[in-house]
Amino acid sequence: MNNLVLVVEDDKYISNFINMSLKQEGYGILSTINGNEALNLFYANNPDIVILDLGLPDIDGLDVIKKIREISNKPIIVVSARLEEQEKIKALDLGANDYVIKPFYMGELLARIRVAKRMLEMNNSEELNTFEKDYLYIDFISREVQIDHKNIHLTPIEFNLLKLLIEHRGKVLTHNYIQKRIWGYEDSSNQNALRVF
Ligand code: CA
Repeated sequence: MNNLVLVVEDDKYISNFINMSLKQEGYGILSTINGNEALNLFYANNPDIVILDLGLPDIDGLDVIKKIREISNKPIIVVSARLEEQEKIKALDLGANDYVIKPFYMGELLARIRVAKRMLEMNNSEELNTFEKDYLYIDFISREVQIDHKNIHLTPIEFNLLKLLIEHRGKVLTHNYIQKRIWGYEDSSNQNALRVF
């Protein structure tokens, strides 16, 4: 089945360019220029991937990420002219999967969409009860970790960190996001502890 991509971009030229290229690659497309309609389209059609501009005419693209993440883990790729590092971090913290700075080559965006598709397939194919890769084996139910078939002991925080990283493999996680997920709060003074772990 073809993946359905929601394209949220108010620049007509860029939007047409993205839509045409995606169509050529065989994707289904939903397209809008504003954030509220993007949310309605998302709720109504449950697209597989979202391509999102941050500077929209009605609501902030960051709010669109926030709203989508309340109900869904579908990949969100931000396409933005905003160059500030803080914006990028905010978008990633809110749960965006990737970030492409304008102007960009279509080939780059298509490659990132392929990465998002792989992530989507992994998310769909496995309820994460166990994980196995090379010498590492993890049972998430019994919380057992083996290296080369030997049990190793991890503290609860070490185990939770490992699990979080595996759940988000292929994705960049910020300090704040990890801290919120593992310790339950954001506190930049505690980042040394995270580094040690
Ligand atoms: Ca814009």
